[in-house]
Amino acid sequence: MDVRRTAVVKLNLSDEQRDALHRTAEQYLYCANRTADYCWSDTAYTGCKTNKREVRDALYSELREETDLQTQLVQAAIRRAVEAVKSVVERWKKGQRVSCPTFSAETMDYDTRSATFYRNKASLATVEGRVEPSFVLPADGPTPYDQYVLSEDYEFRESTLRYDAATDKFYLNISTRRIDGVDETCVSSAHQNAKRSGDDDEVPADTGHPDQTVLGIDLGVNSLAVSSTGTFWQGDDYDHWCREFEKRRGELQQRGTQAAHNALLRLGKREDAWRKQYIHTVANELVTEALTHDCDVIVFEDLTDIRDRLPHATWHHVWAFRRLFEYVEYKAPERGVSVEQVEPNHTSQRCSRTDCGFTHEDNRHGEHFCCQKCGYEVNADYNGAKNIGLRYARKRTHRLRSSPTSGSGDAPVDVRVNGGTLNGESHRQIAGD
Ligand SMILES: [Zn+2]
Repeated sequence: MDVRRTAVVKLNLSDEQRDALHRTAEQYLYCANRTADYCWSDTAYTGCKTNKREVRDALYSELREETDLQTQLVQAAIRRAVEAVKSVVERWKKGQRVSCPTFSAETMDYDTRSATFYRNKASLATVEGRVEPSFVLPADGPTPYDQYVLSEDYEFRESTLRYDAATDKFYLNISTRRIDGVDETCVSSAHQNAKRSGDDDEVPADTGHPDQTVLGIDLGVNSLAVSSTGTFWQGDDYDHWCREFEKRRGELQQRGTQAAHNALLRLGKREDAWRKQYIHTVANELVTEALTHDCDVIVFEDLTDIRDRLPHATWHHVWAFRRLFEYVEYKAPERGVSVEQVEPNHTSQRCSRTDCGFTHEDNRHGEHFCCQKCGYEVNADYNGAKNIGLRYARKRTHRLRSSPTSGSGDAPVDVRVNGGTLNGESHRQIAGD
């Protein structure tokens, strides 16, 4: 299991630092746009260049000479452009209308060589050398930043510097990953051997040429989102900040003065911007998760009755689920990934082992799933994510089977699980729930 956390921090910048970042972003965008032009072909997708190494070899020294950017930023800009061209080519292959990607948002990707993080500040490479803006952090911690970015249990992966024109502020979205890979699932001793030998559903990916691979996503209160590939977006930093904002709002409401009222309005705007930013980051990571695992479809549960299904969800959660779905639905197609929803009935109570599928309310106890029939024990949200992916895969198989043209030419639909592939075909035998 892969546990990732995201911290969004606002930067406190002097005018000089701000100018340096804007000038850096300008040159970064220049590199990305130059790269996209170089890679693009108007005539045929086969003429587009999508090999990162080749493109970098062709453009790198030229772009280094033309700009004041340091090595990692030039490479990051090239990488971003090639990835964008790649996903546009994927859409082109499917017959969609496409054009050469262009870059205009001031967003830059930093890694461990171009950024360093300290307790209260970051050091970022710019065209004018390193700048060290401080963070806007609340006085009373611990903040998500303390917990994840500075924690020894988490490693810094990458961060995205983003300029928000609406608020005229720079934000850093910092991604971290838990180092020791602490597995939060509880696997009983009886099942540990099975787990090691490939478990129930880790059918090797090379057993066929699946036309469609599915990434299932479970949304919930314990973890904001969990994917069928076993990545957790825990969202407790989101919960933490929602509580902080709420506390502050309560204080202002009690005062009841005009000044407090104005402060309340400002707070509302700030909170709104912060929430959106947070969910955007998670949405981007979900799309990246799908691309990393070569998934063509991201599947969510239908959110219509989510409040009834999750009685412990606050309105913050429900808001986050809906936005997250909307953002992914809007972002994923740009990268050639489609987004679907399935009926949520019993996805949390059903055993996701392919050879079981037993559904019972006693299978689930909070975060813990334990199948009363086969003894499969696993994190409940992860089990749910697999079921959501499987339900879509099975539905597709079912539809293909019932169509008059179905037969050997059926396109199998696979659910991507922990690096292995779970073939939707094998679910034909499972009694529907
Ligand atoms: Zn079972």
